[in-house]
Amino acid sequence: MLSIMVPVFNEEESLIRLHEEIVEVCTEGMISYEIIFIDDGSTDSSWKVIREITEKNPQVSAIQFRRNFGKAAALTAAMRSAQGDILMMMDADLQDDPAEIPKFLEKLKEDFDVVNGWKKERHDPWHKVYPSRIYNAMIGRMTGLHLHDHNCGLKVFRAEVAEEIRIYGEMHRFISVLAYSKGFRVTELVVNHRERKFGHSKYGMKRFLRGFLDLLTVTFLTGFRQRPQHLLGAVGLFSFGIGSLGIFYLSMIWIFSNIFGVGDFGPIGSRPMLAYSIAAMLLGAQALSLGLLAELMVAYTGSEADTYSVKERIRRDNDFDDDSRIV
Ligand code: UDP
Ligand code: MG
Repeated sequence: MLSIMVPVFNEEESLIRLHEEIVEVCTEGMISYEIIFIDDGSTDSSWKVIREITEKNPQVSAIQFRRNFGKAAALTAAMRSAQGDILMMMDADLQDDPAEIPKFLEKLKEDFDVVNGWKKERHDPWHKVYPSRIYNAMIGRMTGLHLHDHNCGLKVFRAEVAEEIRIYGEMHRFISVLAYSKGFRVTELVVNHRERKFGHSKYGMKRFLRGFLDLLTVTFLTGFRQRPQHLLGAVGLFSFGIGSLGIFYLSMIWIFSNIFGVGDFGPIGSRPMLAYSIAAMLLGAQALSLGLLAELMVAYTGSEADTYSVKERIRRDNDFDDDSRIV
């Protein structure tokens, strides 16, 4: 079964049409489905509309948040209550075309775990389209997953993916990256993108700064979650090393001119190099100790589930029960 998750934040005019389009496509393609609407604290009549839809349609369920918690939270709530073995996320604003559903399912069958939409021809203002290209290229470089449209609202993935990744804040932009880092097979599919007819976009210019900060977080989490000292320690050692070299050089100068009377280098106390070297050593020591603290946190509070991801298990009858094993 396919679970279609639709986060809704003030989209009252689009919902009925969206629901009709989904039903039409799924009925035609004989796809068994459920729809989960998540009202993310709408202040318009979205919830009322959703309620009416659920009353008439047994395949539709809904969740209402007490206030606006963001798209990632909405999707998390939906993933938790989804019953299907395949999950799809779709924006509520009718920009994503439900007619694409069958193509996504076909693509998933080619042994993929995540199919990420790609709005090749985008119907968004230019100040969104161009920065987004740069942004996608940057994500590709930093995470190793090269997709054209990481933040596409239309994505399909297997239920296993939802079980293994955790999204919070605005991390919904990185669902594919997080899945990829766990070893899931990710691909993309060109989708038809439509203009927004009703309501307005919920994400302004702030998205770029936040998106960039989140990219740093995700790069750190996917690359160094299990070994933070390898990053912080490397930075720390480098900085400490440079600082030590500077101090060593200045000490030598001082010793040669003051003790052996060789050369006249002047006093070292007022040299900019002294300040830089000390700052570099302090920074280095700090990064190293932060790294140790981070390791401590991973060692004692990190969860074992994060250390690997199992694709398949072959069990034998004489396997010990998990409960009988001494832990
Ligand atoms: N959305 C949400 N919570 C929010 C912001 C947005 O559930 O805090 C939903 C919104 O209703 C829409 C989807 O997320 O269904 C994508 O939002 P939007 O269309 O504004 O983003 P854009 O297409 O402009 O990137
Ligand atoms: Mg939109």
